[in-house]
Amino acid sequence: MADLAEHIEQHKAAGNELMDGVDGALPQLINGALVQGDGDPFDAIDPFLNQPFGAVSTSTPEQVDQAVAAARAAQPGWAALSDRKRGAALKAIADALRANKSLLGKAESVNAGIPNMVASRFSVAAMIRHYEYYGEWADKIYGSVIPGTGGKVLDYTLREPHGVVATITAWNSPSLFMGSKVAPALAAGNTVVLKPSESCPLPGQILARAIQDAGIPEGVINIVYGGPETGTALTTHPDVDMVTFTGGTAIGEKISAQAGLKPICLELGGKSPSIVLPDADLDKTVFGLIGGAFALSGQACAASSRIIVHQDVYDQFVEKFSNMVGMMALGDPLDGTTVLGPLISERQLARTMEFIGIGNSDGELVFGGEQLTDGIFAQGNFVQPTLFANVPLDSRLAREEVFGPVCCLFKYSDLDQAIAIANDTEFGLAGSIWTKSVNKAHRLAASLNAGFVWINAYGNVPYTAPFGGYKSSGHGREGGLEGILEFTRTKNVFVQL
Ligand code: NAD
Repeated sequence: MADLAEHIEQHKAAGNELMDGVDGALPQLINGALVQGDGDPFDAIDPFLNQPFGAVSTSTPEQVDQAVAAARAAQPGWAALSDRKRGAALKAIADALRANKSLLGKAESVNAGIPNMVASRFSVAAMIRHYEYYGEWADKIYGSVIPGTGGKVLDYTLREPHGVVATITAWNSPSLFMGSKVAPALAAGNTVVLKPSESCPLPGQILARAIQDAGIPEGVINIVYGGPETGTALTTHPDVDMVTFTGGTAIGEKISAQAGLKPICLELGGKSPSIVLPDADLDKTVFGLIGGAFALSGQACAASSRIIVHQDVYDQFVEKFSNMVGMMALGDPLDGTTVLGPLISERQLARTMEFIGIGNSDGELVFGGEQLTDGIFAQGNFVQPTLFANVPLDSRLAREEVFGPVCCLFKYSDLDQAIAIANDTEFGLAGSIWTKSVNKAHRLAASLNAGFVWINAYGNVPYTAPFGGYKSSGHGREGGLEGILEFTRTKNVFVQL
C-alpha cells in the first residue's frame, strides 16, 4: 500500500486536472457563457485530505436574477422545438458527458470522497443514462381525451411544462442528481437553473462544458454556485415556476416555506428499515445489507440504518454480518479497490461520532465505533462501519438520520412487531424485506410505510422506476414516467361542439 505522501501527490494531480482550464475560480454558466460569480468565492475541498484544491465563484442575487431571466427568455423557444429535436439535444448532452466519464468519476472522488468504482458505476453512469432515457421520452408525453358527460362535447388534456425550474441538489451522488432532476425537466420543455451542492460543485463544471459541447441553446440550462443564500435567492424568485430539491429534511422544510405556492418536488432524508424473516437466505441477506447499510459510508439517503431480524436467526445474522463487514475496504477514494471513502466533512465526522457516543450509552456495540486516524487515514474523515444492538426505540440513534456508517439492529418475534418497529419513524423513504415466502414478501411490502421497497435486494434503483419518499422523506418522484410527469402540469380543454 502506498504511503500517505504518495496519496497526497495523486490527489494534488487529480485536483489540478479537475481545475485545468479554469481561469480563477470555477465559473457560473449563465445564458450560455461561463462567467465569474461576483460573490465571495469558496473552497472546493478534498475530504480525503481535508484541504482545498481549488476555488469556486459564488453567484450574487443579481446573478441569480440573470440566470433566471436567461432561463425565462429561453423557455418558449425550447418548448416550441419539436419533441424529437429536444430529445436529440438531451442525447447530445449524454454523448458529451460520456466523453468526460472518467473526469466526472474523479470529480466525485476528489470533491466528495466517493470511491471511484462506486462513482463511475453508479452516479456517473446513472447521470448519463438519465439524459439518454429522458431524451427518448421527449416525444412520448401527451394528454388524454376524456369521455364527455353527454351532448356534443370534446374534452381533452394537455401536458405542459411548468416553465423555469430551480434545481437544488445534495452532494452525495452529485452527478446522478444533475441527471435525474435536470434531464426530465428539459425533456418536458422546461428550462433550468441548477445550484449544485457547495460541498461538491466540481461535476457542475463538467456538465457546463457538456452543455456547451452539445450546442444546447443559451439559457436553457444555467448553473449557479453558492450555499443557502444562493439557494434562497432561487427558491424565492418570483420568476421561478417550480422547485425540485434533494437534501436533508430540515432544509426541505425551509425550502418548502420559501417556495410558497410553487409546485415542489422534495427528495429528503431517511431512516430506512430492513426486515429479515427466519426463512431468508442469510448469506444473500447479509451480503445485500452490508452494502445497504454502509455504501457511501452510510451517506446514502436510502441507507438501511435499521435492520430488524427474527429471533430464530438473530445470532446467526450477527455472526455473518460481523464476518462480512471486513469486505467493505476503507481507503483512498481514488484507489480502484476502495469500497468506503471518507465522510464528506469534519462536521459530518463530528455528527457521526456523536451518534456513536449515543449508541455506546443507549445500546451495545457489536462492531466498529472508531475513527481511523493512522497512516493513509491521517487527514481524512474516516469512521469504521459500526453496528449497535439493543438500542431503545426512543433513542436518537434509532430515530434520526445519522448520514454516516452507523446501523442499529433490532430483534423481533412476530411479523406485526417487525412492521411496527419498521414504521415507527418520521421517515418513509425506503425499506427491504428478506424472505423466501412470496406471500409474506408482498404482504410486508404493502405494510411498509415507504416509497420504495426492495424484496431480497437492496439499493438497486433503476432509472426506469419511480423513486421518492413518504412522510418526512418528501414527496414527488424521480425516475421513470412519473419522473417526467413531475415536470409537467395538466391543462384541461373543454370544447362545446
Ligand atoms: P442539505 O440539505 O444540507 O443541502 C442540500 C442543498 O440545499 C445544498 O445545495 C444547499 O446549498 C441547499 N440549501 C441549504 N439551505 C438552503 C436554503 N435555505 N434554501 C435553498 N437551498 C438551500 O443536504 P446535503 O448534506 O447536501 O445532503 C444530505 C441530505 O440529503 C441527507 O439528508 C440525505 O438523506 C438527503 N438526500 C436525499 C435523497 C433522496 O433522493 N431522497 C438523495 C440524496 C440525499
